[in-house]
Parts: sequence; C-alpha cells; structure tokens
Amino acid sequence: MGLIVQKFGGTSVADATKIHRAARRAIKAKLDGHRVVMVVSAMGKTTDKLVALANEVADNPPKREWDMLLTTGEQVSIALMAMAIHSAGHEAISLTAAQLGLMTDSVHAKARIQRIERERLERELELGKIVIVAGFQGIDKTGEITTLGRGASDTTAAALASVLNADTCEIYTDVDGVYTADPRLVPDARKINRISYDEMLEMASSGAGVMHSRAIEFGMRFGVPIHVRSSLTDVEGTMIMAETEGMEAIAIRAVTLRQDLAVIFVTGIPNKRGMTSKLFAEIGARNIVVDDIVQNLYESGQRANVGFVIESADAPIAREVAERLARENDFGGVEIYDGVSKVSAIGVGMRSHSGVAAKMFETLTEAGIDIHTISTSEIVIGCVLPRNDGPRALAALHAAFDLATPPEAGRTQ
Ligand code: ASP
Ligand code: MG
Repeated sequence: MGLIVQKFGGTSVADATKIHRAARRAIKAKLDGHRVVMVVSAMGKTTDKLVALANEVADNPPKREWDMLLTTGEQVSIALMAMAIHSAGHEAISLTAAQLGLMTDSVHAKARIQRIERERLERELELGKIVIVAGFQGIDKTGEITTLGRGASDTTAAALASVLNADTCEIYTDVDGVYTADPRLVPDARKINRISYDEMLEMASSGAGVMHSRAIEFGMRFGVPIHVRSSLTDVEGTMIMAETEGMEAIAIRAVTLRQDLAVIFVTGIPNKRGMTSKLFAEIGARNIVVDDIVQNLYESGQRANVGFVIESADAPIAREVAERLARENDFGGVEIYDGVSKVSAIGVGMRSHSGVAAKMFETLTEAGIDIHTISTSEIVIGCVLPRNDGPRALAALHAAFDLATPPEAGRTQ
C-alpha cells in the first residue's frame, strides 16, 4: 500500500461532470489500497477571470489583495471536490494551505515554499480520508495568504509528494503527456514515455509550457517520479524520472520553441575592467532575466561587442539602460532585434553522441534560416533566429532528428 498524490489542473475540474470524473480517479486509487492526497487548481479559467477583474478595479492592485483574491479559486474547487467524493459514499476532507500548514516566504504572487507541516495531513490520512489540498497557495509566518506563481499547483503537488515521500505524483491534465515538440506546431510530434528531470527542466525553461519548473525541481531533489497524464483516459502518460542508462541511447529527446524573445547587441564597449559587468548589473537590477550572452573582442582586445537575449516584454527597459550606458561610457552603439525566437534541441544523449550541433546548423542552413546566436550546455543546443522562421525551424529539426520515430523502434540518433 502506497501513497499517491494526484493533481488536477483547471481543465480537469472545469465543471461538475469533470469534478466527478476526478473524484472517481481518487476513489479508485483509494479502493486499490493507496493513501490519496489530491491537489486541485481553480476551475477552468477562474484564475484568469479573477486577474482580469483585479485589473479592472485597479491599475496596480496591491499584491497582498491580489493573493487574497486569486486563492479563492482553489477554495471553491477543493470544497466541491470533497462534496463530490462524499456524494459517492467516500470520506474526504478539503484543506487550505493555512489549515494544513504550507509555509512560504512573504513574496506575494511568487512566494516560495519553505516548509510543509505533515501532522494534519497524516492525521486525516490515518482516518482513511482522501485529503484534498488547495494548489497554488501558501501562508507566511505572519499568517498572510500567498500564491506561488501562475501554474504553480503542480509545485504544490510535487512538494506534498516530496514531504510525504509519495510513491508517485500524478499530474492530470488535458494533454496525454509531454511531446517531442509542441503538437500544434509539429503535427507528427510524439508522446515521450520517459524523460529525465534534467531534460524536463530544460524543456520547461525553453518554451514547453507543460509544467511549472519548480515542481520538477522538487521531484528531482526528493526522487519522486512525476507522471503527466490525461484526465480523460487511462493511457499511460509521460514519466519524469531520474536518468537511467538507456536514456542516453538517443541524442535528442525533444525540440522546443520560445517565440517571445529579443536580442540586444552592444558594440564597441571599451575593454576596461568592469564595463560588461556594469551593463549586466544595471539590467539585472531591473529584474530582467538575461540568457545566452556572447562576447567578442577586437582592435587587439581594446574593444568588445556583447550580445544577449531577453524577453520581448523587457526590450524597452533594456534598450533604455543600454543606450544610457552607451552615452555615458563611450560605447559604439546599441542594436536591438525584437522579434526573434529560439529553438532548442534537448537530450542527455548529447553527452555521448557527436555531431549534434553540426546537424542542427546544417538543418537550419538547408532550410534557409539565419542564426543570430548559438548557445550550448551539456544537454541543450539553442539557436536564436528570426521569429517568423521559428515554427519552420522547429519542424525541420524535429524531422532531422527523426523524433517522430519512437526510440523503442530502434532510433539511434
Ligand atoms: N489556478 C492557478 C493558475 O491558474 C494555479 C494553477 O492552475 O496551477 O495559475
Ligand atoms: Mg498548469
């Protein structure tokens, strides 16, 4: 007899019928002999509607009240879920973060979990109840309500699975797993059966909107496998798990696309100590996340050009900072290409396969696509390119790496 955490996203609890369907899953797991903790999100588009409402009432709503408002969505769905389970003749109890003791820091709207009390959870499980926990919310040490960031019910589930040492954490959603590429852009994309935590983290940060990154980090840190699967069928989904030896047999597990990026080139920076760090310190101070920095020196090392990638939304502020520093410090100039995207190829197999980068560049060149910048890490190669070419680049790489063929069918590249 084990312990299972089952998380149901907004689409899986969008109406009464779906709530009953989710309830039946939990009851089945219970009848199979497991202890069951459910984590639920707000119904359907509830959170989006609450966000819209807040923005209608105020230009810049206080973050404390923002969290107060947004957490109501989950309180509705946990209560309804408990009622559905009761009406099916089983025992259940709903708990808010405050009731169970899910403690976070005090950073409203993007709080981080610090500690989870096990006492109340274990007491209710001991009584044979299905415990239903409100996702996405927390409480700080002064008793204020916090939220963990949009999409963070996944993180609530993975964190609970970690502290309770669960056998698995099941994430029920409206897709049947994680795909080799976004199936809306690449129709022959295939469901991945098994993927390592590292690969999944890279996918999440490079554009695949499947899961909240922090959920994957919890799973990895505490060794809890995360099973992403459909709430509509019994088909096995994707298992996110520790790397196994076989996983390196293929070079690339998936390709991703991020479309909302801009590249900034700052040219002619006098190569004096501290110049580049000044640029990035000022940009960082504006909370802008910078990716893929490239630098090259010229004029016998007297001057440097620096390029970096940011989100499009941050481009106006980054431009302002870069142009001001350019005026004050005698830089050559600042150029911004807003409207770029980034394709990434991800796979732990890259460590033991050669020629992956070459194949990626060849494929893009053959497709007539210009590459702005290239970045590589142990298990990712990313290319920044014109935004309009993004979907085509993604499809070309998916085909070049033969991702539509299952690894079980003997694919070796
Ligand atoms: N309801 C929250 C949101 O929409 C949390 C979640 O769904 O994971 O962001
Ligand atoms: Mg989600």
